[in-house]
Amino acid sequence: MDTLIVAISQAGDFEWLQKAGVALNKNGYVQVDSVTLETSAPGVYAGGDAVGSGPATIVKALGDGKRIARAIRAKFEGRAADGQKESALFVNRAEFQRRRVTRKFAVKAPERAPKDRRDFDEVVNTLSQRIAKEEASRCLDCDLLCSYCVGVCPNLALFTYEHAPICKTLPLGRIKDSRWFALDGETIKITQRYQVAVFADLCNECGNCVTFCPSAGKPYKDKPRIYSRRDEWERESNNAFLLERLADGAAIHSRIAGRTHTLSLNGRIDYSSPELDAVWSVGWELLSITAKPNAPDCERVSLRPVVEMMALLNGLRGSVPFIPLMENS
Ligand code: SF4
Ligand code: SF4
Repeated sequence: MDTLIVAISQAGDFEWLQKAGVALNKNGYVQVDSVTLETSAPGVYAGGDAVGSGPATIVKALGDGKRIARAIRAKFEGRAADGQKESALFVNRAEFQRRRVTRKFAVKAPERAPKDRRDFDEVVNTLSQRIAKEEASRCLDCDLLCSYCVGVCPNLALFTYEHAPICKTLPLGRIKDSRWFALDGETIKITQRYQVAVFADLCNECGNCVTFCPSAGKPYKDKPRIYSRRDEWERESNNAFLLERLADGAAIHSRIAGRTHTLSLNGRIDYSSPELDAVWSVGWELLSITAKPNAPDCERVSLRPVVEMMALLNGLRGSVPFIPLMENS
């Protein structure tokens, strides 16, 4: 870097940035590309508290710094940035499993002998560069691939699936008098390559996965719950999915917040929700979007379920080929 400005403050002053041609978002913070974090001024990047909706955490700022560094590197190397760690794209699963079953103890930082502690100098010294790298190599990358819950489920109800990271900008709109009005675009992305889902039919809600999950979640409730019977799926109000085989493709039906959404791939992409129908070509060219005749007025209609259902459907079909598909009826 050329310049580092250390600052402690509660709010940023972005006026000078705006004067320099950097656009701000509707919250008054710097507007950035959601993947690269590049601002409207080419070559200028922003992250941390300066973007999105403002003050966040130090961890977010660190993460944004890393994403920016990767995006800049990708730009210099002439490839598209995908916002992920390079290793996220190519997890060598054999090497990964070997690392997981190999116990490596932490190296203790060197400390001064008690008899020498007669001043106010540091007692615990820093690691050498070599030891620090060795320490870092003990990371098990569970942010990329955890799946501990999968291994501890006694009923084999949980499973890991893999999908290609997906990032789409879809229309965001509103519905008035049963008509669709596009307001803006919304970028939706799912970058975590390895995901976990639940065969709801096999889960007896024993809670074992909750006990072992190193995060704060409830895997059997939080992860997408896949049903094989329509009647059971219909009884659910949230986070329930049903896969269906079509003549030349497949469909996924979901129950989200008490409402039913359907996405089908059959030579094109068809989406139907309680409010609207939308059609894209297989290359994601929007062909039509229309409000349902009886759709209630709605100020903000997001197409986020389209991307989420697409990632789930493609991921399950690609990596869990034995998944039961309901026959078209
Ligand atoms: S709660 Fe369900 S998914 Fe979790 S361990 Fe028990 S059976 Fe498996
Ligand atoms: S739900 Fe918990 S145990 Fe399962 S993959 Fe995620 S963090 Fe790991």
